[in-house]
Amino acid sequence: MQVDTQKIVVLGTGGTIAGRAQAAGDNVGYVAGEVGVQALVDAVPGLAQAAGGALAAEQVAQIDSKDMDGAVWLALAQRVQAHLGDPAVRAVVVTHGTDTVEETAWFLHCVLAAHKPVVLTCAMRPATAVTPDGPQNLLDAMAVARAPGARGVLVVCAGALHGARAVQKVHPYRVDAFASGEAGPLGWVEEGQVRLAQDWPSAPDGWAQAALEKIANGAPWPRVEILTSHAGATGAVADALVRDGVQGLVVAATGNGTVHHALEAALLRAQQAGVAVRLTTRCALGQVVPRAGAPLPLARGLSPVKARIALLLELLGAPAPQ
Ligand code: ASP
Repeated sequence: MQVDTQKIVVLGTGGTIAGRAQAAGDNVGYVAGEVGVQALVDAVPGLAQAAGGALAAEQVAQIDSKDMDGAVWLALAQRVQAHLGDPAVRAVVVTHGTDTVEETAWFLHCVLAAHKPVVLTCAMRPATAVTPDGPQNLLDAMAVARAPGARGVLVVCAGALHGARAVQKVHPYRVDAFASGEAGPLGWVEEGQVRLAQDWPSAPDGWAQAALEKIANGAPWPRVEILTSHAGATGAVADALVRDGVQGLVVAATGNGTVHHALEAALLRAQQAGVAVRLTTRCALGQVVPRAGAPLPLARGLSPVKARIALLLELLGAPAPQ
């Protein structure tokens, strides 16, 4: 086996990819994050070769990603950053749960200058399934990690390659659970080869890196909550959150950034009280087209969960994402 001079580091965070069920036929009644990352890596035939012969594994967390939080994000970002800064490391692969992988990918994209590839991968079926999807996803992630020109924070699942900004979980059960909306995937992984449909994401500059430093130095995470506008919406929850000290509110608005008048009145009150408010749309595709005179600012082109992360970082002093 030819050994690459640069290694690929796999950071484990848990998820279904590391999940264990009582019965092999059970694809939903499992416990996520049970299998350690070294065992996961060791169980995939040909993974070391796919990585170029130099592969290391490190456990950062072992959680169901529905429970992702700031502490794990900080630890993960710091480990990724440390490995990216090591000339002996070619790329970092992160195993993650599917539920919030799009959030972690966007968070890492914002806080890291990922001139090397950071490839997040996951699985919809537990490691104990009759046909688990994790092993192939790991092999595909290695192919992306070693692809010429690869850079930035990427997500690989079911043979598709997505960018951090557009990727979204769109199905609760199917193995092919991710899409990149109107942008479409960056490409596909086929038999160990990457076929690009778009360019690699432009070299990210880690525009919110200083915000990560602040958190690392003990600054608390700002409190940002997400609200949805819907038929019969009221301002009660927004008002209660303001009373409770919320610092930011992201609203999944209807259509082109419209908000029920009762909720809108409460949001204007919140804004008046110094709470940062950002509007996104609850539509699955597209982004809000700005209109003159709109009273509340937009988080353009970001899904509600990603707009929340952008606002968290803004409240820590980072500029708004482009
Ligand atoms: N709840 C799991 C997680 O996000 C789901 C998955 O990985 O598919 O960790």
